[in-house]
Amino acid sequence: MNQIDEKLQPILNVVLQRNAGEAEFHQAVREVLESLGHVVAKHPGYAEDALIERICEPERQIIFRVPWIDDNGQVQINRGFRVQFNSALGPYKGGIRFHPSVNLGIVKFLGFEQIFKNALTGLPIGGGKGGSDFDPRGRSDREIMRFCQSFMIELHRHVGEYTDVPAGDIGVGGREIGYMFGMYKRLTNRYEAAVLTGKALVHGGSRARTEATGYGTAYFVQRMLSTRSESFEGRRVVVSGTGNVAIYAMEKALEFGAKIVACSDSNGYVVDENGIDLDLVKQIKEVRRARISEYAQLKGKGAHYIDGGSIWDVPCEVALPCATQNELSGRDAKALIKNGVVAVGEGANMPSTPEAVQAFREAGTLFAPGKAANAGGVATSALEMQQNASRDSWTFERTEERLAEIMDGIHDRCARTAEEYGAPGDYVLGANITGFVRVAEAMRALGVV
Ligand code: GLU
Repeated sequence: MNQIDEKLQPILNVVLQRNAGEAEFHQAVREVLESLGHVVAKHPGYAEDALIERICEPERQIIFRVPWIDDNGQVQINRGFRVQFNSALGPYKGGIRFHPSVNLGIVKFLGFEQIFKNALTGLPIGGGKGGSDFDPRGRSDREIMRFCQSFMIELHRHVGEYTDVPAGDIGVGGREIGYMFGMYKRLTNRYEAAVLTGKALVHGGSRARTEATGYGTAYFVQRMLSTRSESFEGRRVVVSGTGNVAIYAMEKALEFGAKIVACSDSNGYVVDENGIDLDLVKQIKEVRRARISEYAQLKGKGAHYIDGGSIWDVPCEVALPCATQNELSGRDAKALIKNGVVAVGEGANMPSTPEAVQAFREAGTLFAPGKAANAGGVATSALEMQQNASRDSWTFERTEERLAEIMDGIHDRCARTAEEYGAPGDYVLGANITGFVRVAEAMRALGVV
């Protein structure tokens, strides 16, 4: 692990003590603090007025009971969360995750990452995150609807266009956003479209929002490759996951001329040496909501499925972890490096463990951290808010053009900052410092609040 500046170690100690047992949150804070040593050495002003301590403490944390009735008439209880982390730059903004692994520590790590990610976009959005330990897998459409409605009955009093604007994340897509928006509208008697993003087009959703996180990751990686006069063209690419982020990262990488050789779900992974057939993946995952193992059965020759195992053992030149946190270990990173990986772009939030990040840095692998590489999703959410505010609806082309511009801007700002701090090509440092400085400036000007 990297050293923490001696001025910052006491801040980390307080975070560890105050948030006992929240391992993912500790991991996310530690990584940012490791980068900030360079900033406070250069600009001691940022260490004043407990500015960094304030950034590490959420402005508000809401935990609530979510009761709902399943299809058998049984009452079920889940726990709901919304962590409103930082509103210096705009209303809290960040997704809602429905997954059995969700707890306060997970929501806090995601909310903390979101502050810097949102700052990097250059758009006026603060950071927050929410979710529930509800497991949508195997639930009927009616059960999903009743759960989303119950979740919003509590959440509605805490959100709003100018307060907090949730969106989707793992387990929450267009269908769930629709049910939540329906209940919000009924409870408030307001057609306040910008209270949620990721809506259907008919409710004021933005074109390209569904594609944005994955497309944005591919744009970022393409730009990062170009700094070494490389590109996706002809490259072997492995993408973990087959959710919304993975599918559209694959789509854009294919457009850039890549060959996708493997993708996965939480059970296992498929390898197709002829190149993954994305239409078939979409059919299995988006239409039938089935398992990726079916891919090999339907495809036959050339494709095979491995139950369990590590997708990172598949040799590739570009790796895009797009599934979930800590899915790529130090061991996985070493396997990728040994097999000649050139670039890694995180489509998921914090998918690489600290050991993996360290290994990539030492090997000189181009490494794009999630808070920079996957910011295209939330950036397009902010474009959705813009369209709602002006009661407008942009074309797909116009929206994607803005997305591409934003991703190039994030890339270039991170690269410039890394250079300025004497670490050219270090996108982790570049992203953490660039995001922090924007939030810190905004907070300073607001006084101690
Ligand atoms: N959940 C996404 C993320 O991790 C999107 C959040 C949003 O659009 O507000 O950034």
